[in-house]
Amino acid sequence: MSESYKYLFGPVPSRRLGRSLGVDLVPFKTCSTNCVFCQLGPVGHCTIIRRDYVPLMEVLKELRQWMASDGKADYVTLSGSGEPTLHSSFGKVLRWVHQNSSMKTVLLSNSSLFHLSEVRQDASEADIVKVSLSAWDQASFEKVNRPHPDLHFEQMVEGLHQFRSEYKGSLWMEVFIVPGLNAHPDEVRKIAAVASTLRPDRIQLNTAVRPPAESFVQAVPPDYLQKLSLLFAPQAEVIASFKPGEKASMILNEKTVRRLIALHPSTVEQLAHITGHSEAAVQSVLDQLGSHLMKSEHNGALYYTLSASV
Ligand code: SF4
Repeated sequence: MSESYKYLFGPVPSRRLGRSLGVDLVPFKTCSTNCVFCQLGPVGHCTIIRRDYVPLMEVLKELRQWMASDGKADYVTLSGSGEPTLHSSFGKVLRWVHQNSSMKTVLLSNSSLFHLSEVRQDASEADIVKVSLSAWDQASFEKVNRPHPDLHFEQMVEGLHQFRSEYKGSLWMEVFIVPGLNAHPDEVRKIAAVASTLRPDRIQLNTAVRPPAESFVQAVPPDYLQKLSLLFAPQAEVIASFKPGEKASMILNEKTVRRLIALHPSTVEQLAHITGHSEAAVQSVLDQLGSHLMKSEHNGALYYTLSASV
């Protein structure tokens, strides 16, 4: 790839998409949400205003130039520095690629603007649309994705339903798991319940294997992610790219454990799974919480939570 391209990147090799040429349609971190796990860092410009953030003609000119210089890729993917559906002409880019090449197209979106019929119509031009769903209601949406104040979870899901009923291509869904916010099996079941109503062709689970926007966001271990994948129908695939043999783990300290049990009463075994540490290590941190800790027995298992006075 020549240095002179401003809007194209790659092509990058991808396990699922072969060689994929990226097209970046918005300035760095221009997005309708400010996800805690965003690998682009804290939000630059949180907006729901749709416009031609970068000139359409310039993007098409680069694509033409890239193809003329023998550029080859299996897919053209609209992704990059922010939310591509904020660009009011993203559908024209998809149409142009189909009319001028044999490459297939992919749209990676955070789902937030699918309540707009024009966004759904343009998205339906893509061969694959991958949307995000990492929450199950407005409160969890606000914690995990930190959307623009005018965005509402129910409206977004309704938009996705509409899209599913209209769209003929392949709908993929990515669920990003964040310990302490949406990693507990009860929470994941709620996400899976919403996901199943959208009948995605594929569901992919991810976690923060690269440094995210917020330092408190950590990765869940691969074997825990694998267990969560069974809660989805179709069963989710784990796409977080842990190095072979590498076992991701959360920092195990009082702060981490407090945060986890403040949200959900948990057993030592569950905490060991979520954090990727041994039960003995978890128990020793729990012991340090002393009088802040509350225990209760349920179905023969001992659950820990924080006392109300904390
Ligand atoms: S939708 Fe993507 S680009 Fe936008 S904040 Fe979330 S992770 Fe970052």
